[in-house]
Amino acid sequence: MPTPHLLNDIDQQLADWLAQRKLPAFRAKQIRHWLFAGRVEGFSEMSNLPKKLQEELAESFSLETAEMTRHTEAEDGTEKLLLTLAGGGQIECVLLRDRHRRTLCISTQVGCGMGCVFCASGLDGVDRNLTTGEILEQVFLLQRRLSPDERVSHLVVMGMGEPLANLGALLPALDQIAREDGLGISHRRITISTVGLPKAIRRLADLDTRYRLAISLHAPTDELRDQIVPVNKKMPLADILDAADYYFDHSGRRLTFEYVLLADLNDQPAHAHGLVKLLTGRTALVNVIPYNPVAGLPYATPSPAAQETFQRILESGGLAVRFRHRKGDKINAACGQLRRSQAGLPIAQN
Ligand code: SAH
Repeated sequence: MPTPHLLNDIDQQLADWLAQRKLPAFRAKQIRHWLFAGRVEGFSEMSNLPKKLQEELAESFSLETAEMTRHTEAEDGTEKLLLTLAGGGQIECVLLRDRHRRTLCISTQVGCGMGCVFCASGLDGVDRNLTTGEILEQVFLLQRRLSPDERVSHLVVMGMGEPLANLGALLPALDQIAREDGLGISHRRITISTVGLPKAIRRLADLDTRYRLAISLHAPTDELRDQIVPVNKKMPLADILDAADYYFDHSGRRLTFEYVLLADLNDQPAHAHGLVKLLTGRTALVNVIPYNPVAGLPYATPSPAAQETFQRILESGGLAVRFRHRKGDKINAACGQLRRSQAGLPIAQN
């Protein structure tokens, strides 16, 4: 029998466990401190705990259930981990270094059920949701890649999977990450990226968590979005934008709309004008991401000229725009690509 994963519910499990043994409650605080600030791998490194306590904890709980199958590091400091989960299944997580920023990108599901036509993560559908513990493990593994003087500053839920399809496991994990006695990352530095599930967006707004929300738009009309993001057929743009506005009204956070630029498909001037029309009047940032090609898929990155034209139209239309400079391409850092390369599947054309 595997032992319970401590990271699935750190506080409750520790409180119960300590109470059963009539041990002082302050031990929980010490253990939390080792986990979040001490960056330890196991209980045996928690040096201010009695040896016997360390051993009993190790017998009672698991802390690390995922195995690091592959680690890649790019010249710009981007590090990517491929993890194999207990019981099989692989996920990816990434550490991005950009000047003073240290951003972690984490996964929420094995695979993805949304089926966006250009994305490597969803090619084989979704296997299962990650647990809270598996989500936090990624954070701890990535954090240990940092040198002692580096500190996590941002977190993005933009890895494999649809985060709003696994809110039950994600929210407790994010809560730990945000808490002062956790990683202490402010809510406005935590971004959840979603394909745009209106009900779940409203639920998130009502919960008043005030994380940043990024919505993967990829098209200015339902007609085009139906082709690129299949779930759009059930959840049209108007519903998504209504939910997004609701989120903005409740959270006060500027919305982000992500737009993966696919050559000839959604990168024409008419699409840019359509986007201006659709988003004008909203407090929003448009995050344009030139496509990172996935081999076997018939999509390509637009030419630099097409990218520039697209950007100019958005900007002269008055939208706040960020063209995300690509990081980690060389190590297959785009969604789901490392997993495919490990499985011997084709990954990238360039
Ligand atoms: N399911 C969520 C989060 C995961 S993907 C969502 O849809 O937002 C995070 C972002 O990366 C999404 O905007 C997604 O469309 C984009 N993405 C996926 N594969 C990509 C690729 N090959 N090149 C560029 N962006 C990609």
